[in-house]
Amino acid sequence: AIQVIGCGKTFGGGTVALEPTDLSIAAGETVVLLGPSGCGKTTMLRIIAGLESPDPGGRVLFGGEDVTPLPIERRNIGMVFQSYALFPNMSVAENVAYGLRVRGVGRARRRAEAAEALALCRIADLAERRIDQLSGGQRQRVALARALAARPRALLLDEPLTALDASLREHLRGEIDALLRRLGITAVYVTHDQAEAMTIADRVVVMRKGGIAQSGSPQEVYFRPADRFVAEFVGLMN
Ligand code: ATP
Repeated sequence: AIQVIGCGKTFGGGTVALEPTDLSIAAGETVVLLGPSGCGKTTMLRIIAGLESPDPGGRVLFGGEDVTPLPIERRNIGMVFQSYALFPNMSVAENVAYGLRVRGVGRARRRAEAAEALALCRIADLAERRIDQLSGGQRQRVALARALAARPRALLLDEPLTALDASLREHLRGEIDALLRRLGITAVYVTHDQAEAMTIADRVVVMRKGGIAQSGSPQEVYFRPADRFVAEFVGLMN
């Protein structure tokens, strides 16, 4: 489980990206942070990841352990971004195994775990290709395989499908949904796409101006929106 307790973020110049906010994510749950541009979704995700520290007083707990002072390398999470952040001149298999090598995992185990992650993401046949020979959808699968290979305790995804065309996006969101369910992994998924949120989420957290407007199942936020903002945002993007 992940608990965010009273985490706010004010950037230099006084921009309040996030008001002090509480958010709990149960073990195995997929929570989607949904909201318009600039509402603080990425900031929340980066605080959970350890890429950003919350303003003083905010805390992040993983399984009850206070990880607030720990940098990303010590939180054992997997991250997938909109831009793939892969090494373009390395092979798919090398990219996926890279994080394991950095963490001192031996060669044989690296191979086995990379192969398993590639199979999970249905790209076993691409193992020896170079990244710059892949399509956008294939690259996003590699990024997902790389995040999963290290067997993270949680997976954080920031608009992973935004750069892809509509039909591919629709296809991949179904696959990601199936994969997250099969793995039973704790996941936080940021998007501004309502359809994506409704497919993937166990729980949708609708954000507005640095705070949480509503948190509930996809059915709840759709059929019983807390206010007009949620109704319009969730309905508008149909
Ligand atoms: P988007 O969907 O456009 O990525 P978002 O909901 O993820 O938006 P954030 O990226 O969390 O929003 O940004 C929230 C607010 O904080 C925005 O007003 C943004 O301009 C501001 N902000 C984010 N990062 C910084 C930074 N490093 N320095 C200053 N302001 C920032």
